[in-house]
Amino acid sequence: MRSGLGETQQMTKTVLVLGAGPAGGAVALGLRRLGYAVTVIAQPRPFAAVEGISERVVAGLRAAGFSAALTAIAEPSARNAHWNGASNSANTEQLVDRQALDAGIWRDLQQAGVRCISARVTGITHSAGQVSVQFAPTSLSTSPGELSGCFLVEARGRQAPSAGLSRLRGSQTVSLLQYWQGPAAAPQSAAVSFADGWAWLAMTAQGRRYLQLTLDVASTALPAKAELTAFCRQRFAALPQAVPFMARAEPVGDVQARTSTAVLCEAVVGERWIRVGDAAMAVDPLSGNGIFQALSSALQAPAVINTLLQHPERAALARQFHQSRVEALFLRFARMGRDFYQLEQQWPAEPFWQTRRQWPDQQPMHQACSFAEFEVQTLPVVQGAQIIARPVVVTPDQPLGVWHLAGVELAPLVEVVRGRAAGVSLRCCLADQGLSGEPLVQLWQWFRQQGVAELSE
Ligand SMILES: Cc1cc2nc3c(=O)[nH]c(=O)nc-3n(C[C@H](O)[C@H](O)[C@H](O)COP(=O)(O)OP(=O)(O)OC[C@H]3O[C@@H](n4cnc5c(N)ncnc54)[C@H](O)[C@@H]3O)c2cc1C
Repeated sequence: MRSGLGETQQMTKTVLVLGAGPAGGAVALGLRRLGYAVTVIAQPRPFAAVEGISERVVAGLRAAGFSAALTAIAEPSARNAHWNGASNSANTEQLVDRQALDAGIWRDLQQAGVRCISARVTGITHSAGQVSVQFAPTSLSTSPGELSGCFLVEARGRQAPSAGLSRLRGSQTVSLLQYWQGPAAAPQSAAVSFADGWAWLAMTAQGRRYLQLTLDVASTALPAKAELTAFCRQRFAALPQAVPFMARAEPVGDVQARTSTAVLCEAVVGERWIRVGDAAMAVDPLSGNGIFQALSSALQAPAVINTLLQHPERAALARQFHQSRVEALFLRFARMGRDFYQLEQQWPAEPFWQTRRQWPDQQPMHQACSFAEFEVQTLPVVQGAQIIARPVVVTPDQPLGVWHLAGVELAPLVEVVRGRAAGVSLRCCLADQGLSGEPLVQLWQWFRQQGVAELSE
C-alpha cells in the first residue's frame, strides 16, 4: 500500500464518501490505498437498469481496483447503430446490469477495509475543519445516525443535492426506461434515431430487455405516469429496429424516468469537500461515456484530497487541478455529443435535434495549431499522491497541458528545440538532451508531426 499518511495520522483522518457508484467506489478505494480511513454511506440503487460500456471502461474499473464489480460485466456483444438513415453493426459493447455492478462495488469496498453504511443521506453540516453527515435507515439498515469526518466526497450521482448551485445545463432531456422479459437470446444492443429523439435497446443472454427512449422535455407531451407503459410500448412498436427486442417479451414493472440532461456544476471542489462523477458533471447518455467520465473525475480525486489535507499550502493548486479537469472533460463530451447529433440530418427542424446539434458551442473537437502557438505554462499536475506545479506544454487542443511524452518532460524540450542554433538537426538537438532509443524516436516523431523542421533555419 502506498501511504499518503503516517501510521498515527491514519486513525484520526476519516474521509466520508456519499454514494457508492463507480465514482464514489473509485475514490474510496484510492483513498484506502493512500492509508486513509474511509466511510462510505450509500443507499442501494432502487431500480433495474442495464448500461453499455466499452473495453476501456472495463480497463478503467480494473485500474481503479475493482474486482467483484467486474463480474457484473458481460462479454462484448454486437452494438448496432441506426443513425441518419444508415445502419452500422461494426461495433461492440459490454452490457452491465447496474444493480449487480453496484453490489459488486459494495463487496470490493468491504474487502478493501472501507466502512460501508447502507443508509440514505439526509443532511450535511460543515464546521471548522470537520464535516458531519446525517443519515436515515434503508431497507438494509435499521437505525438513523450521524457521522463526522475531516473531508466529504459528494458522489451521489445525479441525485446529489444541487439547490443553490450554479450549473451549466444542456437541453432538458428525459430517458424513459422499461425492463421487459422474454426468452433467452443472443445479447445485443442498438441505438436508433427517430424524429423526436433516440432509443437504446439492449437484450441480455438471460432474455432481459432494457428499452430506453430519450426525449426532449420541453417539446414532448409526456402522458401521466399511469400511461407511460402504454406510451412507451406504442413508441417502441413504431420502430422497426425494436421488433426483435420486443418479440415474445412483456414489460415488467413500471417505466423509470431518468433525467439525462447534460449538467456541469460550476464549483466542484472546496476546502473540505469535492464532487466527483455525475455529482460534478453528468453527460448525455448518447455518448455512452457516463461511467468513463465518472471514473475519470474520481481517479484523480484521491491525490487532490490528499493535497488539500496534507499540503494546505498547495490547496489552491489542487482545487484548480480538479476544477479545470472536470470542466475540460465535460466540454469534451458535450462537443462529442453535439457532433454525433449533427451526424443525424433527417429532422433538422425538429426541436430535439435542432437544440442539441448546436450545444454547447461551435468550437471544433480538435483544433489544428502550429508549433509557434505552443506555450509553456506552469500548471497543476499529479505526481504520485499529490498535486504539484510543473511547466507543461499548452496548445489550443490540450488546454490542460502535456507534462510527459514517452516518459520525458516535454516543456524543457520544447524550449530547447525552439532555441536551437541554425543548422542543428532536430535529432541531434534531442540526443544532446540525453535522449536515445525509443523515447528519442517517439519525441522526434512528435516534433515532426507538429511541423518542426529537421534542420533549423
Ligand atoms: C438514461 C441513462 C442511461 C445511461 N446509460 C449509460 C451507458 O449506457 N453507459 C455509461 O457508461 N453510462 C450511462 N449512463 C451514465 C451512468 O449511469 C453514470 O454516468 C454513472 O453511473 C455515474 O456514476 P456515479 O458513481 O457518479 O453515480 P451513480 O452511479 O449514479 O451512483 C450514485 C450513488 O449514490 C447513491 N445515492 C444517491 N442518493 C443517495 C442518498 N441520498 N443517500 C445515500 N446514497 C445515495 C446511489 O444509490 C448510488 O450508490 C446513463 C445515464 C442515464 C441517466
